[in-house]
Amino acid sequence: MNVYDSDRMKDSLAPLGYQENPDLQDADMIVLNTCHIREKASEKVFSELGRLRKVKQRAADEQNRDVKIVVAGCVAQAEGEEITRRAPWVDIVVGPQTYHRLPDLVAKLDPIERNRLIDTEFPAEVKFDFLPEQLGKRGPAAFLSVQEGCDKFCSFCVVPYTRGAEFSRTAKTIIDEAKQLISSGTRELTLLGQNVNAWHGDGIDGREWGLGRLIYELAELPDLKRIRYTTSHPLDMDDELIRAHAEVDKLMPYLHLPIQSGSDKILHAMNRRHTSADYLKIIDRLRTAREDIAMSGDFIVGFPGETDADFADTLKLIDKVGYASAYSFKYSMRPGTPASDKTEQVPEQVKSDRLMSLQQLLDSQQFRFNKTCENTVFDVLVEQKAGRAGQLNARTPYMQSVYFEGHDSLIGKIVKVKISDARQNSLSADIIHHKEAV
Ligand code: SAH
Ligand code: SF4
Repeated sequence: MNVYDSDRMKDSLAPLGYQENPDLQDADMIVLNTCHIREKASEKVFSELGRLRKVKQRAADEQNRDVKIVVAGCVAQAEGEEITRRAPWVDIVVGPQTYHRLPDLVAKLDPIERNRLIDTEFPAEVKFDFLPEQLGKRGPAAFLSVQEGCDKFCSFCVVPYTRGAEFSRTAKTIIDEAKQLISSGTRELTLLGQNVNAWHGDGIDGREWGLGRLIYELAELPDLKRIRYTTSHPLDMDDELIRAHAEVDKLMPYLHLPIQSGSDKILHAMNRRHTSADYLKIIDRLRTAREDIAMSGDFIVGFPGETDADFADTLKLIDKVGYASAYSFKYSMRPGTPASDKTEQVPEQVKSDRLMSLQQLLDSQQFRFNKTCENTVFDVLVEQKAGRAGQLNARTPYMQSVYFEGHDSLIGKIVKVKISDARQNSLSADIIHHKEAV
């Protein structure tokens, strides 16, 4: 979502004449779009700000140039004034719900007065209504935010505090944005939300729709070839959404559905409000709907109170599911969340050991899954040139990155390839068909 938000910030600043500049030393404005989900991510912000201070100072000393520094995203939202206190060279602090106001904030900066501006409100207006159209070309696979915020309050998580309450965009604004992306060459859309399957927006027929219905509708857009959505919560996997997996060919057979832990005791303490059996049942239903669906997930190890037996339950669950890929993290204490006050914190070394064995298991599952793809023919969406000359990089329906030889004119097209070799993190293939590339 931060990638999407960064693109939208670029769009909002374009009317002021700003363009993306890959050269930090040459930039007139530097925007750090930040993540607060784990401690490590937020710590990085302050070390990065130290580096940017020097860039700003050098531009002022050597070129008499005023470089504006903006901190955006969830660290901005959570830390607010603390940022300008610890890093007074920051000019603007703007939260994830107010970045549409960036142009106004920039206009209000006064280089003589050296004023600093902080906007971390949760405003009544909807930022999407104020942002310009997606301007820059987004490429063959693009993101589209449909839902933001979260009302679930898992006891470890900062999202409900930094991104605010659940909000769903209307179907019309989503479909309009989809059409516009498609007209600029996008062929695959990933619908985004902190809890994307909790999306429940006004439909174009005046009724309230769920995500399943939205997917059926988007699938009607002829030049849109592939649809994905992320991230989902097990409690919001409703019948229509599961049916969409059975009936909508454009919906890719790959689902990121985090559970966090395989222990019911820990799931309860996390306030996930479902059991591991509930989760397995959902996966069964999904596999009945779409036999070849591949699963991905998120896991947290070392949640307060997690015993060896609880951790063993997580490994058992992973064995039962068989993941094509997954993300895993050590529990990170986040200020203001209920779990951070718990006394039974798990020692760091135990967390590290558990993370290592969990990742070994997940890596071996991923490798095995990739190996089963050898000699299979896939339709892949070509996204870009690969590093090596003459090579292209594409994605399989299962999100695997695949490399093969082909002409640049295939970028943005769907082609058939046969997988020749599978590795831990990518596949090699031979193109077998491109006359009918679409
Ligand atoms: N809404 C999604 C997850 C969004 S946060 C869901 O409910 O599944 C993305 C991932 O970050 C989470 O799935 C979780 O695995 C991880 N995460 C969130 N807070 C964390 C914390 N305090 N410590 C470690 N990992 C965390
Ligand atoms: Fe965080 Fe996801 Fe839980 Fe919401 S549902 S509180 S985003 S982990």
